[in-house]
Amino acid sequence: MNFISTRGGERATGAQAVVKGIAGDGGLFVPEFFPTVSAEEIGEMCAMDYPERAAFLLSKYFDEYDREELLEACREAYSRFVGGDPIPLVRMDEGVYLLELFHGPTCAFKDVALTVMPYLLKKGCEISGVKENVLVVAATSGDTGKAALEGFKNHDGVKICAFYPEDGVSKMQKLQMVTTEGDNVFVAAVKGNFDDCQTAVKKIMNSPECRAEIAGKGYLLSSANSINVGRLLPQIAYYFSAYCDLLTSNQLKMGQRVDFAVPTGNFGNILSAYYAKRMGLPVGTLVCASNRNCVLTDFFKNGSYNIKRPLFRTMSPSMDILVSSNVERFIFEISGRDAALTAARMKSLSETGKYSVRAEELKEMRSFIYAGCTNEADTVECIYDFFMDYGYPMDTHTGVAMSVAHKYAEEIADDKDAEKRPMVVVSTASPYKFPQDVLYALTGNDVKDSYKGVKRIHLLTAMKVPEALKEIRYKPPRFKDVVSPDAIYDEILKFIS
Ligand SMILES: *Cc1c(COP(=O)(O)O)cnc(C)c1O
Repeated sequence: MNFISTRGGERATGAQAVVKGIAGDGGLFVPEFFPTVSAEEIGEMCAMDYPERAAFLLSKYFDEYDREELLEACREAYSRFVGGDPIPLVRMDEGVYLLELFHGPTCAFKDVALTVMPYLLKKGCEISGVKENVLVVAATSGDTGKAALEGFKNHDGVKICAFYPEDGVSKMQKLQMVTTEGDNVFVAAVKGNFDDCQTAVKKIMNSPECRAEIAGKGYLLSSANSINVGRLLPQIAYYFSAYCDLLTSNQLKMGQRVDFAVPTGNFGNILSAYYAKRMGLPVGTLVCASNRNCVLTDFFKNGSYNIKRPLFRTMSPSMDILVSSNVERFIFEISGRDAALTAARMKSLSETGKYSVRAEELKEMRSFIYAGCTNEADTVECIYDFFMDYGYPMDTHTGVAMSVAHKYAEEIADDKDAEKRPMVVVSTASPYKFPQDVLYALTGNDVKDSYKGVKRIHLLTAMKVPEALKEIRYKPPRFKDVVSPDAIYDEILKFIS
């Protein structure tokens, strides 16, 4: 399978696309076509465990990788998840499910892809004959950074650095990152918000001069953000897996459609759901849930993507984003794969802060995506209600998705023609990753200390505290630098010199 750039021209194999991270023309790599998964194959996947399901789907894209080895890598990756099933689907109520993606090493959904990605990257180098070391740079709104650091730490031939917005991550997220071990890692805080951070990193990725200078030091530059297909494609598997779990537990018949609600930031997670749909998974509506930063909600309402607005800091910091990278891949598809048009729109976005899609494109987008946003008070209420009703503590991002899923349910409740479908809410983080805000939602109490929050949530809910979060408590912080976005490049050069 080959990959092409959303901005035209460039072509790459799967291995090359993972290694490069981003196309030379500034576009994002997308598969040349969507491989299909038949009902029969979905049936076969029902008999598989999670690593087998993941390897089965990945091999449709990464067909130059050895299948056995791919399966081995998935087995190894998901053996690092806690509990019997790495990606459990939990039934909450009639037709309401939570898909728990947070049982990996860093307690957020980024682990699902970032535990497999080091294999995809290193093998990708081997397949495409890359001899240099690889330098992985991640801009993070909190969770990608730690997941990438954990995934790549102590790997030979790879160096990994993560940049996070100084005031844009939870205390626990920050503590996770700055205590990372390994001698091939670097972490720094960046003055500004996540968009500043991501834009600066993308600029380096897109600069031939920077790439050349880094190459001069013996490194090939790559990305661990969801602009990299190595991040995106492993995420498709859990949508299929959830469907299989519904089938095998007799809660669904083959071919019946399922809705998914996804807490959205960079649009990577929900784009994977869209890819799953394109591959043949019976998906009804995708609920694109945003917090107060409702760029996407507006985009799906009026067809205009407009980042000329303030970015709010919320209790779901991994969703505090204005420039959602993967929307580029989505509008590429919606435009009928018009690369010139996509390039023009991205140019407009970076120059004027906005672009619009045509009326018929908007209609198409809205035919299967419901985009909605919620505010902090409604999210808090939703987390509280959910705990009262089901004894289940959701994290703040999942709370956003649940809150918007409720809005969607209310909107279609009056529509007699609407098909009644199961709703799977995608749960992206452990509540213990955002202990202060979750405790506040559950009890109305503010605590200053993250671990006091952890302890109280545990007393209240009896939910097990992940070892990964317990053990960083007494680890010394290793990385204390705070740099301006302009200084990121210098830090990178220093790190590899
Ligand atoms: C990254 C993240 C999101 C947003 O996912 P995208 O793929 O960026 O849309 C939501 N919730 C949590 C906990 C995250 O870490």
